[in-house]
Amino acid sequence: MIIDCHTHIFPSRIAQKAAHDLVHLYGSSPVAGVTAAYLSEHMDHCGVDRSVILPVATTPDQVRSINTWILSLLSDCDRFIGLGAMHPDFNTVGDVETVGDELERLKKAGIRGVKLHPEFQFFYPDEDRMFRLYEAFIEHDMLAFFHAGGGGTWLKEIHGTPERFEAVLDSFPKMKVLAAHFGGYDCWVGVEKHLLGRDILFDTAYIFRSDDGTKYLPDDEIVRMVEAHGSDKILFGTDYPFRRQDIEIANLIKLDLDDSDKERILGENAAQVFGV
Ligand SMILES: [Zn+2]
Repeated sequence: MIIDCHTHIFPSRIAQKAAHDLVHLYGSSPVAGVTAAYLSEHMDHCGVDRSVILPVATTPDQVRSINTWILSLLSDCDRFIGLGAMHPDFNTVGDVETVGDELERLKKAGIRGVKLHPEFQFFYPDEDRMFRLYEAFIEHDMLAFFHAGGGGTWLKEIHGTPERFEAVLDSFPKMKVLAAHFGGYDCWVGVEKHLLGRDILFDTAYIFRSDDGTKYLPDDEIVRMVEAHGSDKILFGTDYPFRRQDIEIANLIKLDLDDSDKERILGENAAQVFGV
């Protein structure tokens, strides 16, 4: 089974605007369509069984409506695995239980985690503002799936550094954490120092060499870091629509790793994490 744990799609009515905004923010164009229909067709073509949809709320008032959209998407198509949207400032004026209520609403639909993006949502993972959310994630057994490291032409400073994720792991050892882009896009020296071998999941999204000239981890470094971290803590992800799933599968398969490691990374680990 092949599971892509890192994809982005948008509701049809905002798809064009979303694609345009992404080009503006990242400076690179999507290589595939940004709606559910395009992703589903792409999965057929590439032999991917399930894709995890990661929604990002850029303002707190978007959280509920994005989650309602995710729930409707999941009820229409069982090939998608959804994560919920969450925002550092979600419901700061209301009672704390409302965060838990939203997590429970997601959980009832089988959703096992939420996506947070330090660079789009302007927070440091280890700042006090986040702690009420982390406590709620632990209480409701939800995975915190973070964008990690750089990746954005507008960034003057990276909020989600390996050092800050290390501080989160130290303070919240019971929280399930995934740091995308192998622990931190273009921060891999820091990953080695602060996160490698710790109890944290990584994905492989946007780390392979690509002819678009973006920063990448060389194959021999990936192999060495997989072996040092543990292949049971690494999930295959692509960052669709910025990368094609077939090319990324080929990139993973050509690594000098045991077949059993590749099978874990390509699907077995994600099946366990997301309850497939
Ligand atoms: Zn992404």
